[in-house]
Amino acid sequence: MAYRRTLRREVACTGIGLHSGRPVRLRLRPAPAEHGIRFLRTDVGVTIPATLAHIGAQDHATTLRQDGVSIGTVEHLLAALCGLGVDDALVEVDGPEVPVLDGSAAPFVILLHEAGLRPLAVPRLYLKVLKTVEAVHGAKSARLVPCDHFEVRYAIGFDHPLLRHQALALRLSGRAFADSIAPARTFGFLREVEMLRKSGLALGGSLENAVVIGETGVLNNKLRFEDEFVRHKILDAVGDLALLGRPLLGRLEANKAGHELHAAVARKLLATAGACELVPALAAGAREPAPIAGAAALRPAEA
Ligand SMILES: [Zn+2]
Repeated sequence: MAYRRTLRREVACTGIGLHSGRPVRLRLRPAPAEHGIRFLRTDVGVTIPATLAHIGAQDHATTLRQDGVSIGTVEHLLAALCGLGVDDALVEVDGPEVPVLDGSAAPFVILLHEAGLRPLAVPRLYLKVLKTVEAVHGAKSARLVPCDHFEVRYAIGFDHPLLRHQALALRLSGRAFADSIAPARTFGFLREVEMLRKSGLALGGSLENAVVIGETGVLNNKLRFEDEFVRHKILDAVGDLALLGRPLLGRLEANKAGHELHAAVARKLLATAGACELVPALAAGAREPAPIAGAAALRPAEA
């Protein structure tokens, strides 16, 4: 039997918002069983549950909304919480965006490592995919397929010589998330960055928190993985699927997808009769997420 988990103690960090460029204080606090993951905007006193029903804008990042108040760029933190098996936690933020830190989930993994995890007295329920559901937009697609583990198969392709095709399939149990996915950074094309800046976005973006792809190559010194780009897409998908509110037993098969399709296929799973069920325990042979591991070489950006 697996039990729900929360943090052992509260932890905090400071960083800047990717789009606003302003400093933000983030605090992660323990929460009771079945609280789920919720954001508290301490500057305005509004709580926003991290569920599909609260998704707001989804261009370039996932934003959650409640009563006209939003919290942006939640997906990397949600991926770290989900990837490490945290079911219940309160996330306090004193502004409209989660700090971007180094553009990956590795600093959040380190923060959760500092907090430690503890089991709660309530069994964890998993959302098991029973029937394949699919969301398609032109050549882009995302499918959720029955599987006894949480797995992702992701393929990307861009009209750029460096990024014509990258694909990766991974079972996200044990240390796989922290070691193979969490350190992969946000990426963007130089030409898009310039456009975003003109519309007042990505003001906090820099080579410190994103991999920037120019016409002839990557502007940063070096990549953390040869296929860092597809790994980051998997990271985003884990964060978006965390909005299901339960750990998933199923395989995401995504082709050139993004935040909107991740959310669309998740919504479809819940809306399709007989497509999923809540199960109390892992299938035989499936493993619990490791307590906390990996990404230890990467330190959070201190602001
Ligand atoms: Zn991302």
